[in-house]
Amino acid sequence: MFVRIWGARGSISASEEDKAVYGGHTTCIEIRADERLLIVDAGSGIRNLGNSILREKKSANADIFLTHTHLDHIVGFFMFAPFYRKENTFRIYGPSSRSGQKTKDALDSVFSPDYWPIGLSGIVAAVKWNDIEEGAYDIGGGLTVKTLFLEHPAPTLGYRFEHGGKSVALVFDHESYAPGNAKVISFLQDADFVAFDSQYTEEEYYNGKQGWGHSSFEGAIETTEKAGVKKTLLFCHHDPDRTDKELAILEKKYTKQSNIKNVYAAKENAVYEV
Ligand SMILES: [Zn+2]
Ligand SMILES: [Zn+2]
Repeated sequence: MFVRIWGARGSISASEEDKAVYGGHTTCIEIRADERLLIVDAGSGIRNLGNSILREKKSANADIFLTHTHLDHIVGFFMFAPFYRKENTFRIYGPSSRSGQKTKDALDSVFSPDYWPIGLSGIVAAVKWNDIEEGAYDIGGGLTVKTLFLEHPAPTLGYRFEHGGKSVALVFDHESYAPGNAKVISFLQDADFVAFDSQYTEEEYYNGKQGWGHSSFEGAIETTEKAGVKKTLLFCHHDPDRTDKELAILEKKYTKQSNIKNVYAAKENAVYEV
């Protein structure tokens, strides 16, 4: 499998020059498994992914997994150009909101005409919506998707994709110091590649960020090491105020503190082989 980062920022996009290396777009991750294209989240990064798909000049057929409906994870949804080509097909998955609202209806209400000009009826590609819960789903092509509700103020799914004996897991947005983290440790057991919410340092977390639904670098390392993750840990959902310089220092510091073979801070446009 291949993983490509189109957006690694959390909370809000950041376009300042001193954030251009790790990138300012909010979360969007592309996963390729043989011929299959999987997309996780529709943050502002999905716009560039959409344009890259159009440049491939073939019809697109992909599965889009939304972790939750907080704005930083859906803000790019209607800027995904392949939605406006009728030859394309998408299957979209997401959890129901706390009020029981389905993902499709939640998007419809957030992007109502008062807040956005084009609604779901403007999409011309074939789209099938799937509301999912915790469990394991066979999505064909030898791909299994496992899901787990994370510790976050909105119902938020962590995803684990398994294909050809390899596994890629994405855990954001998630607060690792909350009690539900024990479940996350089993969910991540022996995964090959884990992208984990690391919005804060532990010091920042205990300085007024408790209950905000995010983890620290320390929490990411502790959780993945307890889960027996050995190959790759990717810090992601970077704080929007964190500069490239600061992220590079933190990346170096926490790489040294971890026993995992490859530890990186997620960088926009970076591609990782799993
Ligand atoms: Zn977020
Ligand atoms: Zn969130």
